[in-house]
Amino acid sequence: MKKNIFLMLLITIIAILSGCASNKGKNTVIKEEIYALGTVIQIQIYDADEEKAKKAIEESEKRVQEIENKMTVNKEKSEVILINENSGINSVQVSPDTFYVIQKAKKYSDLSGGAFDLTVEPIVKLWGIGTENARVPKQEEIDALLGLVDYNDVVLDESTNQVKLNREGQAIDLGAIAKGYAGDEVKKILKEHGIKTAFVNLGGNVVTLGSKLDGSPWRIGVQNPLDERGKHIAVIEVVDETLVTSGNYERYFIEDGKRYHHIIDPKTGYPAEAGIISSTIVTNSSIDADALSTSVYVLGLEKGMELIESLENVEAVIVTEDKKIYVTSGLKDRFKLENEEFQLAN
Ligand code: FAD
Ligand code: MG
Repeated sequence: MKKNIFLMLLITIIAILSGCASNKGKNTVIKEEIYALGTVIQIQIYDADEEKAKKAIEESEKRVQEIENKMTVNKEKSEVILINENSGINSVQVSPDTFYVIQKAKKYSDLSGGAFDLTVEPIVKLWGIGTENARVPKQEEIDALLGLVDYNDVVLDESTNQVKLNREGQAIDLGAIAKGYAGDEVKKILKEHGIKTAFVNLGGNVVTLGSKLDGSPWRIGVQNPLDERGKHIAVIEVVDETLVTSGNYERYFIEDGKRYHHIIDPKTGYPAEAGIISSTIVTNSSIDADALSTSVYVLGLEKGMELIESLENVEAVIVTEDKKIYVTSGLKDRFKLENEEFQLAN
């Protein structure tokens, strides 16, 4: 009898201990929200080691702040502001970070035939969309600045990391690409900390690490451009990829019944009106996705699709004004329409 009690006690202790052990090894979700780059950045890590996850988040936050401080045009100073202040005068030596992003921005300016143009800043400032000073400028004001927009005037010296803008008054804006770079850098940091499962949302730029814990893909909603935030029109499945959307619904103002949004056509100096209301890119690198989502938005359906189909491992979803959705061939199996108001066009 005594022996039986002892045995039961032993079994109970073993059960408790093994229970503890399995609990310790269990993945939990560690979430954090950061405000940077003019937006809310959410990081969700799924890992058993909370300490490690917290450290990774801390480091990510520092890194995003560092990127903002180097590349912003909205503060007192930054490397980009210094380049702009020296336009037509001096070359400015910048950090490898800033040089890399400018180099990429110039590459996409070229690849998109100037639909994306990193020197669009004077026009962006003129409209002030997203600020308290947003207004429709006079045509003369646009004409006076439009000549300054030309990415060919960005001179890069790779051996010294020096950047020069050829003409006075020219200025760079990395708002359409630097958030993508920040996403890639956060992912790099999480990986360096040994994290295998994570979901990061930088104000609509989504970056995923691995698949969901159960091995299934992340299911990411594509925002309905005609509805309030959080309402989606479709779901895309992604594993270890990034998904970046440019739309006319996040930063805009309305005057005389007309919507003026923040993506500028560098050829006209007006908000792009190529018939697209949102363009989403799915690929491996978030800096590429960010530059391409803006490029496609400006290029319009036909040229945008042509550009995307010419690139390897890059997929897109384009929503047009007439509520049609165009999905590239490589994404069709992973795309699910969930709103009957919209129609799959291809
Ligand atoms: P995207 O389509 O990716 O980019 C649109 C933005 O790119 C425009 O806002 C404009 O800045 C620029 N742009 C417009 N047309 C073109 C074009 N044809 N080619 C190239 N670029 C174009 N927001 C704040 O409110 N306050 C801040 O202090 C602030 N600081 C920021 C600092 C950094 C380093 C970055 C990257 C962003 C910051 N932002 C800030 C947000 C920024 O102003 C943009 O609104 C945001 O980056 C736009 O991202 P998006 O994904 O909505 O659109
Ligand atoms: Mg972009």
